[in-house]
Amino acid sequence: MIQTKSYAAQSPDSDLAPWSFERRDVGPHDVQFDIQYCGVCHSDLHQVKNDWFPGIFPMVPGHEIVGRVIKVGDHVTKFKVGDIAGVGCMVDSCQHCENCKQDLEQYCLEGSTQTYNSMERDGKMPTYGGYSNTIVVREEFVLHVSDKLNLAAVAPLLCAGITTYSPLRHWKVGKGHKLAVLGLGGLGHMGVKFGVAFGAEVTVLSTSPNKEADAKKLGAHKFVVTTDAEQLKAAQGTFDFILDTVSAEHDFNMYLALLRTNGTMICVGAPPKPAQISAFSLLGGRKSVAGSGIGGIAETQEMLDYCAEHNIVSAIEMIDIKDIQAAYDRMVKGDVRYRFVIDMATL
Ligand code: NAP
Ligand code: ZN
Repeated sequence: MIQTKSYAAQSPDSDLAPWSFERRDVGPHDVQFDIQYCGVCHSDLHQVKNDWFPGIFPMVPGHEIVGRVIKVGDHVTKFKVGDIAGVGCMVDSCQHCENCKQDLEQYCLEGSTQTYNSMERDGKMPTYGGYSNTIVVREEFVLHVSDKLNLAAVAPLLCAGITTYSPLRHWKVGKGHKLAVLGLGGLGHMGVKFGVAFGAEVTVLSTSPNKEADAKKLGAHKFVVTTDAEQLKAAQGTFDFILDTVSAEHDFNMYLALLRTNGTMICVGAPPKPAQISAFSLLGGRKSVAGSGIGGIAETQEMLDYCAEHNIVSAIEMIDIKDIQAAYDRMVKGDVRYRFVIDMATL
């Protein structure tokens, strides 16, 4: 077994604190890497607080992980010691269902194994995430990361990046489309970058007027303060797509009114409480509400390669691991600029 240092929550009521545990030894198909940076996703906070479902504790969050390979199993062919590697939200899946065979492991019909707060395929060993010094993952779920980009700023691509890239590709959002990105946080700011890169006209819908200058710097063409009734009214019926990245309860009907005829609101944000949608918000204008979860492994690699080629990374604020609670507090207030990344050397 591999002794591992981490920060963990012992229960949904406790703060994160240092904790040691054992990871499995490197098997024939496994890759072990030392973690250099780990992004802080709002999903980490949802899960340590049991927002979605009762979690597995102690919990070591973190699913935006990059580092350097230190050991590979005998049958590993894609990685060698010294390579830069990444892991996102999944570390395993059944690998044989209809969805896995189509590179949609995130929708594995037997349930994919999440990087933390999940069980290994044996159903016995809990998984522990990236707020730790090292990780062991089967080769198929490890991503190649280019050394051309700032590694710390690459980490958030493993979740925030793929979660926004995948739906924009699926719905073929690009030239000629008006895309609204709802919520300018970790996911939202990546949604802006990809939307702009794919050629769409991008508007940020935000509750924070003081994010306007940043939104424009990220490439957004327009900025709408959603708490300003006049600005909201002027935006009615204007968007082909809304990429909804909001983490908390919000009024879907208000935002659906901003779609054009045949428009689609794509939900990637995962608020704990269900939304109430009036049929009238959809039927007047043949509108759709859709959802999307992260992305498959092949598409995640495609996204990383695209980012390396187009020089796209996350806008980050680097933190020491001891400051994780303060980062969570700021995240709850929407005060993220635009992704916290933990320097794991501070563990
Ligand atoms: P984040 O960095 O905290 O950003 C969320 C943003 O939403 C905030 O910065 C804020 O932006 C806006 N917001 C917050 N509360 C709001 C409210 N009540 N009404 C309107 N806007 C509000 O979070 P994140 O890491 O991007 O994650 C966002 C959500 O996506 C989380 O629920 C997370 O669990 C989920 N997620 C889903 C997937 C997936 O596979 N689908 C993957 C990762 C994360 P403004 O200040 O601009 O208003
Ligand atoms: Zn995430």
